[in-house]
Amino acid sequence: MDQNLTRRHFLGGAVAIGTATIFLPTPASATQAAASQAARDGSPPDSAIATLTHAPVAKVQWKAVPFAMTEVRLLPSFWKDMMELDRSYLYSLPNDRLAYNFRVTAGIPTDADPLGGWEAPDCELRGHYVGHYLSSAALLHASTGDGSIKAKADDLVAILAQCQAADGYLSAYPTTFYDRLRKHEKVWAPFYTYHKVLAGMIDMYEHTGNKHALEIALKMADWADAYSRSFAPDDWQRVLLTEHGGMNEASFNLYAITSNPKYRDLGYRFEHKKIFDPLAANEDRLDGNHANTNIPKVIGAIRGYEITGDPRYLTIAQNFYRIVTDHHVYCTGGTSNGEMWHKADAIATQLGPAAEECCCSYNMLKLSRHLFGQGPDTKYFDYYERVLFNVRYGTQDRNGMLMYYVSLKPGLYKTFGTQFDSFWCCTGTGSEEYAKLNDSVYFHDADAVYVNLFIPSKLDWKERGLQLRQTTKFPNEERVTFTIDAAPSMPTALKVRVPYWATQGVTVNINGKPLTVDAAPSTYFTLNHDWKEGDVITIDLPMTLHIEQAPDDKQVQAAMYGPLVLAVRQGFEGLTNSMIYGDSGPWESDEGYPLPTVKLHDAASKSGADAMWVERVEGSRDYPLQFRTKGQGPIHTLVPLNLILDERYSVYVRNEGVA
Ligand SMILES: [Zn+2]
Repeated sequence: MDQNLTRRHFLGGAVAIGTATIFLPTPASATQAAASQAARDGSPPDSAIATLTHAPVAKVQWKAVPFAMTEVRLLPSFWKDMMELDRSYLYSLPNDRLAYNFRVTAGIPTDADPLGGWEAPDCELRGHYVGHYLSSAALLHASTGDGSIKAKADDLVAILAQCQAADGYLSAYPTTFYDRLRKHEKVWAPFYTYHKVLAGMIDMYEHTGNKHALEIALKMADWADAYSRSFAPDDWQRVLLTEHGGMNEASFNLYAITSNPKYRDLGYRFEHKKIFDPLAANEDRLDGNHANTNIPKVIGAIRGYEITGDPRYLTIAQNFYRIVTDHHVYCTGGTSNGEMWHKADAIATQLGPAAEECCCSYNMLKLSRHLFGQGPDTKYFDYYERVLFNVRYGTQDRNGMLMYYVSLKPGLYKTFGTQFDSFWCCTGTGSEEYAKLNDSVYFHDADAVYVNLFIPSKLDWKERGLQLRQTTKFPNEERVTFTIDAAPSMPTALKVRVPYWATQGVTVNINGKPLTVDAAPSTYFTLNHDWKEGDVITIDLPMTLHIEQAPDDKQVQAAMYGPLVLAVRQGFEGLTNSMIYGDSGPWESDEGYPLPTVKLHDAASKSGADAMWVERVEGSRDYPLQFRTKGQGPIHTLVPLNLILDERYSVYVRNEGVA
């Protein structure tokens, strides 16, 4: 969430309202104008909920399609454990408490205890988590088939339906927030929360078939349509300076469901020119912008492209992705420091206590998934894996509590929220994340299954009869095994991602026989085979140590082992339970240590900037993968960052062996 506003929430700081921007028509060129117009033509007239029989609009064919979550199931592993912790957390939140502020706003009596944190009755963001809750429950239902979580979420939808006003407005706070928005007065982020609830309703429809949720969503969108239509374009762009989540994405999703062009136009109306115009021109103007405010807008752009075929939106999404992943991410794949983007390639100068907001990681994964569908390139899942293994795995504690930031200041520690009194934005995106860990493991096209991630899981491609089982203890072991439990009804290749870090080659066996494959890093290797039930494919992916340098200070380095970012263990000094679990963390803290240093005494290995200053040592039960620094001076122990939950750590070190 917006830094000034979160700080305001905690510390009473001021809200920054930007300056007005100039309105430009959506299409930026004659070609784009024609394409945009073509995208808008041919849509059926206004359709009401009663006529929801249109096939979803799909102007753009995905080049690779993700399997439905109902076709992929997680098998026992730490990934499944994370999903189960999430499931427990979702069940632990009573509907009456979740609905408290909605009922109060609608004038419906309630004797429930309100929740705390950002769901407290005096917090201007209240209600946001309830939207995330519906999305999480819907995703969990799709991922597991759990009927009880659907029933619980259906009940919550029914409660919220009673709170919806006749004009469609549904929120946990009154419309006076929107009056303040209209007058450009200080208010947190009304459309941000509106989007969460809207998206929750859409997810309940799309993943659980709850038609009532769709009716609610359409009425909500109608209210947003009427509100947003009442502004002059330049005044509306000024409104869009205030965080509004993925209102464009949700609107395009409603257009896809209903074919009603009103919702397509609403999606276009939520286009924030100040952010999109430079991206369309491939300019990196992210410095000084709030990170997580803007990533959902770009997800809306790629969704808009998928639904309308507007090429400008594809360009915006691709440019944004390249700019962020080339110039604004840490070795973990996380982005933002103090919630903001900074100068391109500023890494060593941005190792802050409030780095890597978890919502950014969640949203960058979502964007990667869409972009892969439009151009199946390993770069998207190399990045996806980096984020998933380092700042998604490891940001949920042993009890299912979730994080806000992943600090990069040496000597700091992870802080997890509490069950009923945090509800940060990242609690919401985290609840969704761990409900959909089966998502994106596999994609397919007409000829092949793409294996993108090494996560124990079962794929059931019903249309083709293929049942594929992936078992592995990766990353603690390097072998991944695929078993054909049911053969496909037609020739189907397996395309397996060779990660960027697999520089020592990949070994492949089919039914025990070695196979020579073309498996360069950052490619997919293709297995064409006449698959029979019982076929077994083993793949060994040797993991090696490699070093990531900060582009702005080559002495500042992090060590990785395969996809895993390693962190220096820095002990438990001064840490208390209330520091690890709290409603705020060390995010404004001056606490911390200097960067740990590495001094190599081996002249040969000191020669280059990428001198290997870390080596693997024997692991333990708690840390099967363990490492230590080499050379003079103090020897540091390193373990994967994702396993550090309650200890001080540093991801980066200073390698004094680099000139
Ligand atoms: Zn967040």
